[in-house]
Amino acid sequence: MSVNNHPRPTFTYLGHATVRCDLPSGEVILIDPWVKNNPACPEELHAFDRLDAVLVTHAHFDHIGDAVDLCKRYQPSVVVANFETCHWLGSKGVENCSPMNTGGSQEVLGCRVTMVRADHSCGISDGDQILYGGAAGGYVVRLAEGYTFYHAGDTALFTDMQLIAEIHRPELAFVPIGDLFTMDPQQAARACRLLGVREAIPIHWGTFPALTGTPAQFESGCEDLGINCTVITLQPGESH
Ligand SMILES: [Zn+2]
Repeated sequence: MSVNNHPRPTFTYLGHATVRCDLPSGEVILIDPWVKNNPACPEELHAFDRLDAVLVTHAHFDHIGDAVDLCKRYQPSVVVANFETCHWLGSKGVENCSPMNTGGSQEVLGCRVTMVRADHSCGISDGDQILYGGAAGGYVVRLAEGYTFYHAGDTALFTDMQLIAEIHRPELAFVPIGDLFTMDPQQAARACRLLGVREAIPIHWGTFPALTGTPAQFESGCEDLGINCTVITLQPGESH
């Protein structure tokens, strides 16, 4: 249950930016399908009982590395990404792609899914080429009963996160903290202040040595700002 007593998903962190959401209905949404080739993902979580929907924040390998294989194997009823990435996934044989773009919303398994801005790039590695993949995004997901969460994808800090708070009022945010390719932990704490979230789960940390931001730094960043946000650090394989 959430602070508003709305039923909420069980979130399982598969490492890096990959999050499995088990909805109260029993249906499963996978955000950023990088599993088998994700060095942080525990082996016992490479397989799924069911996979009903996939959301892709952007097309870098560490976010869609297993999208084609997983979608062919489990045939989710909907695969959401930006227009260009959907086109590429479709060209690789992925079915049920449902393209969208920043600012828009669509219904996914009874949830309202809104693609929001992320400050990041989105090239698609295909062989030795990098193809244009549209713009990177994040997702706000509102369950039918009202619980709302935000997966920021990979992003820098941007002040329009205030608008995400004003419009969507997410209760929980998945925020990148690893630095180098995304926000660092101190900026991620500021993101939580802008978002007004009560709970935050750090992502995009620890997978590679180059990602130096740590959950401890993120926690102290939130403390330093004096915000009422509980940092929930999940190790890969743990659930909240
Ligand atoms: Zn990434």
